[in-house]
Amino acid sequence: MSGFEDQLQEQLARFRDAGLYRELRPLDGAQSTHVAMAGKPVLNFSSNDYLGLANHPALKEAVARALHDFGTGSGASRLICGSLRIHHELEQNIASFKGVPAALCFSSGYAAALGAIGALLGKNDIIVIDKLVHASIVDAARLSAAKIRVFAHNDVDDLKKILQWADSRSTGQTGGRPRVLIVTESVFSMDGDLAPLREIIEVKERHGAWLMVDEAHATGLFGERARGLAEAFGIADRIEVQMGTLGKALGSAGGYICGSRALIELLVNRARSFIFSTAPTPASSAAATEALRIVQSAEGQERRALLWQRVDETKNALIRAGWRIPVVQSPILPLVVGQEASAVSLASELLALGILIPAIRYPTVARGAARLRLTISASHAAEEIAQLMGALAQCRTKGLSA
Ligand code: PMP
Repeated sequence: MSGFEDQLQEQLARFRDAGLYRELRPLDGAQSTHVAMAGKPVLNFSSNDYLGLANHPALKEAVARALHDFGTGSGASRLICGSLRIHHELEQNIASFKGVPAALCFSSGYAAALGAIGALLGKNDIIVIDKLVHASIVDAARLSAAKIRVFAHNDVDDLKKILQWADSRSTGQTGGRPRVLIVTESVFSMDGDLAPLREIIEVKERHGAWLMVDEAHATGLFGERARGLAEAFGIADRIEVQMGTLGKALGSAGGYICGSRALIELLVNRARSFIFSTAPTPASSAAATEALRIVQSAEGQERRALLWQRVDETKNALIRAGWRIPVVQSPILPLVVGQEASAVSLASELLALGILIPAIRYPTVARGAARLRLTISASHAAEEIAQLMGALAQCRTKGLSA
């Protein structure tokens, strides 16, 4: 086997030595605040199921109906024979929810980023990304072959400098101006802080660049109609490309891009992760459509109110206990520990105390910035937050903390 196994084992040993080894641990039961791991009940503080919809009876009923009407598999890619009515309904629902002309669904948020960025940019173009954007955007940027420039996290002055440099570029042979696409998240997935979207919009308009905003962790949560942070900041109609996922607050799986009709038509014609991939399952589309209905209903309002109440309670308790967390409103509360091994020890100690918050390490975050990414859901009860705080206090007494 020409040393195949030996080489891989050596590589795995290096991950272990650096505290970066990862393994899958099966959970029993549906996604919820209560799960079981290796037969032991644990309280889950690590899910992106922010509104507690992933195991909601109405979503499950919608899935059961979809299974009955559309079966389990979509059969082919959307452009062959997989474009089912249920996909079109979901896309119409996303577009009207977000207040834009059109939307397109992908089998994951990762595929949405890959498809959209690859469709919009080529080797003569420029992509400008925040230092902390999600891996799907980084990979999409690399695959697009566009020139990649990275601005310091949420640093609009740094972004301005890059855009000034981009203004001076031409596309070589054709002499035309390159396309310049700025990409940021609205709520950052591992830090829970917010992008300065208003300032970014001002700058991008001054330089004639385009903006793509990934609302993965904001869809269903922010803004009067829960469309996302762009709605809350009143600038959604000035963003060329809006992206989001269906697997977080919407309790299903998949991703979407929305915006103008021309954008969606272009993606149908050019987004490779859309064209060359089997259409999302009828079940996931049905669940997402039902989630959108709930998000826009009185129940959605109640769930959001409860979520923000629990977030406030948790933040106040963490601040009282001496943890440093972002000041902005977000269900993502990073407990930054620093060293990878320390984060792993804190996570295992918490698990022994019945609390599930896996350690997040390089390459998901920078080396030396390992953390426990604590997330709050509308489904957490006040007593469960108290249990979490009790467990964190016990870890502190053992010297395990930030
Ligand atoms: N963008 C962000 C900010 C994310 O956090 C994630 C998922 N972790 C994705 C994109 C990818 O979405 P999906 O999980 O649906 O592939």
